[in-house]
Amino acid sequence: ASSFAGRQVALFGLGGSGLATAHALVAGEAEVLAWDDNPQSVEKAQAEGIATVDLRGIDWSCLAAFVLSPGVPLTHPKPHWSVELARAASVEVIGDIELFVRERNAHAPDAPFIAITGTNGKSTTTALISHILKSAGRDTQMGGNIGRAVMTLDPPLPSRHYVVECSSYQIDLAPSLNPSAGILLNLTPDHLDRHGTMQHYAEIKERLVAGSDTAIIGVDDSFCVQIAERLERAGAKVVRISKRLPLSDGYFAEGSDLIEAVDGRCTRIASLDGIGSLRGQHNAQNALAALAACLSAGLTAEEIQDGFRSFPGLAHRMEQLGRKGHVLFVNDSKATNAEAAAPALSSFEHIYWIAGGLPKEGGIGSLRGLFPRIAKAYLIGEAAPAFSATLGEAVAYEISGTLAAAVEHAAADAAASGAGEAVVLLSPACASFDQFRNFELRGEAFRQAVYAIDGIEPIGG
Ligand code: ADP
Repeated sequence: ASSFAGRQVALFGLGGSGLATAHALVAGEAEVLAWDDNPQSVEKAQAEGIATVDLRGIDWSCLAAFVLSPGVPLTHPKPHWSVELARAASVEVIGDIELFVRERNAHAPDAPFIAITGTNGKSTTTALISHILKSAGRDTQMGGNIGRAVMTLDPPLPSRHYVVECSSYQIDLAPSLNPSAGILLNLTPDHLDRHGTMQHYAEIKERLVAGSDTAIIGVDDSFCVQIAERLERAGAKVVRISKRLPLSDGYFAEGSDLIEAVDGRCTRIASLDGIGSLRGQHNAQNALAALAACLSAGLTAEEIQDGFRSFPGLAHRMEQLGRKGHVLFVNDSKATNAEAAAPALSSFEHIYWIAGGLPKEGGIGSLRGLFPRIAKAYLIGEAAPAFSATLGEAVAYEISGTLAAAVEHAAADAAASGAGEAVVLLSPACASFDQFRNFELRGEAFRQAVYAIDGIEPIGG
């Protein structure tokens, strides 16, 4: 963050990552004026030697920049006025990713830098790429919207790889973002509360790939198809990926095979066959993006295949916990709405489905096409009455009430079921707050209940 040496920078948000940003700015010899709504955070910053000042009292015209910490949305009640004041005084408003990018551009502009965005699959793809690079022995730092904030990562070196997940919000605050490989996985209507229109949301996400040396774009939705065409017309290097359509150039999935196409000539270069952590068509999209990015970083197809094979997957996202006989137990607690539950329901059959919690608008009507895959549903939490009404005659269900009861009954029914794999799946299609503090704790409770089953054989770590 040395680009601000000797200049004043205001910073809002002093949680862990905001504090790391403040320290980085101070190390770069900027004069930092930091603030937070939370008096405890302010106190902690002071104790660590960060100068704090209520931003209401400062002279905005003297500032070189206004930095918003990750997790503080532009529409947050307090920064809202400060963002307007900053813009009125022509002070740039940026985030920690922008500081990271400037640091990298100043010290190691050729260091491989893979940035990932999209509506769904960002964390999985980021973790997968990082895992593949590390397994291949590359010095790799992963962070951003997943794991560590970027300013807490080890400093840029020419041989150090960065794999950074970017939310729309972070892209919006990073005008210099110029990854060596940028990935846009998909674009579906989501987060429109924050970004107003789909058009605006798509424009922000497009900026990440538009700034990339190589733009890797999932072309399975119409917004992304248009973006790929627009970038190509502008002379950018575009690599297309598709989880369902053969391409004449790019990478696509055919069953569990991943195919490279050059001028219509196709070669199978990797396979997801039997890799539990990358099951499902949505994961084929994530794996194709990882394949394209890792090839562009110079890895061999063999190294990438090895990485796929040893990828443990992320907790709470279609996480395979264990098996007992023919029954597989899967934790997809992250699925907090119907759309997010669809990939898991599409990836299995003979499903003993644990669902419910705090219902979201729209319910589960959109999942009707997947109902034939559900052997029985076990409903928990406040959503149970509404969900049972939607399931109606189409799907057998019980109102289990608690997660513990649901696991017990689902496990018993699945064990008693006939031939072939049966799956006890927690994919709630609901928020957790009626019974759990967050989706992670809900997933942990499920894990414990599953591991308490007599004779369960855990999978992985
Ligand atoms: P994000 O970081 O974008 O929220 P995650 O990798 O955490 O995405 O995945 C969250 C959920 O989204 C997964 O449990 C899965 O249901 C779904 N998902 C993952 N990858 C994709 C994808 N490529 N397309 C659609 N849905 C996906």
